[in-house]
Amino acid sequence: MSEVFVLAQFVGDKVAKTTGELATCGARIGDVTAIVLAAPGKGAALASQVTSGRIAKVVVIESADFDKFGVSASAAVLAHIVGEHKPAALLITSSAFGKELAGCIAVLTDSGLITDAVDVSSELVATQIVFGGSSTVHSRVSHGSAIITLRPNSVTPDLEKSSPEILNVSVAVGESAKHAEVISSQPPVAEGRPELTEAQIIVSGGRGTNGDFGPVETFADLLGAAVGASRAATDAGWYPHSHQVGQTGKTVSPQLYVACGISGAIQHRAGMQTSKTIVVINKDPEAPIFELADFGVVGDLFSVLPQASEGVKAHKS
Ligand SMILES: Cc1cc2nc3c(=O)[nH]c(=O)nc-3n(C[C@H](O)[C@H](O)[C@H](O)COP(=O)(O)OP(=O)(O)OC[C@H]3O[C@@H](n4cnc5c(N)ncnc54)[C@H](O)[C@@H]3O)c2cc1C
Repeated sequence: MSEVFVLAQFVGDKVAKTTGELATCGARIGDVTAIVLAAPGKGAALASQVTSGRIAKVVVIESADFDKFGVSASAAVLAHIVGEHKPAALLITSSAFGKELAGCIAVLTDSGLITDAVDVSSELVATQIVFGGSSTVHSRVSHGSAIITLRPNSVTPDLEKSSPEILNVSVAVGESAKHAEVISSQPPVAEGRPELTEAQIIVSGGRGTNGDFGPVETFADLLGAAVGASRAATDAGWYPHSHQVGQTGKTVSPQLYVACGISGAIQHRAGMQTSKTIVVINKDPEAPIFELADFGVVGDLFSVLPQASEGVKAHKS
């Protein structure tokens, strides 16, 4: 049976749900080995959490260089083990970091690259949704190991626990991966809401909020949701850029996406069109976002959202 590598992902010290999604997808193709890249002394605690999605083996590689030299150090180490083991595929979460990493590994190993897949079949055929959701593309890597990034929330993770064998491996980071050094970094401030790319539910606000995200946040908190924003809202300084959804923001694929006061520009759609259920609140019945809506409300978000929040509260009590 072929071997598939998945790069385990963590949010702080906790394993990310996307790790289970990658492993679930990988298990269709072959035996799954999860790779854990960790700072010295942190590997065992991280590896012990990598149990869902039928993972057969966890390979732990510790190095201070991952934090110090960022993507290039991780890419060098992953390229080394991909070159040595020649797995059928290496699956990585589609994030800005994941896509940069995947690109570097593909170059270093002379392998084919597919980014932003929403599914990968047992025959290693990747599905991508492109051009604002209007086209579906199926592709397969024809050279080397298939380096594929998978969008978060695209695959339902198999939560059955496995007891993988844990192996500690030592791989040195070469000098060529040390040409740019991270001087300092500021971890994101914890807000008590789920991380955008991990969230099952996202409530997003756009220019229609006119800078007041209060009703969006209240509704999001009642649903245990993350808060997203259009670029119009982040460019205006109404919400942090780290919450921007879209082509130049984050790509999300939650179970439920609620778009409030967002028109549905193609660049916004590019980041959310694979959401499972899309609810739209917009006062313009002609707004293009309604084309994507499973459920749409034509109305003023400042009147609709408080009523929706009251409805959720009443349902909970
Ligand atoms: C290269 C490039 C990259 C880009 N990347 C991104 C990206 O990553 N993400 C992104 O979002 N955009 C991106 N954009 C910008 C994109 O083209 C749009 O300009 C942007 O998405 C518009 O944001 P919006 O829908 O909030 O604002 P608008 O298009 O102005 O829409 C506001 C909507 O709110 C509605 N509205 C107004 N008041 C209310 C109210 N009280 N209640 C209910 N509805 C109301 C209006 O009817 C309207 O439909 C990018 C653009 C370019 C050129």
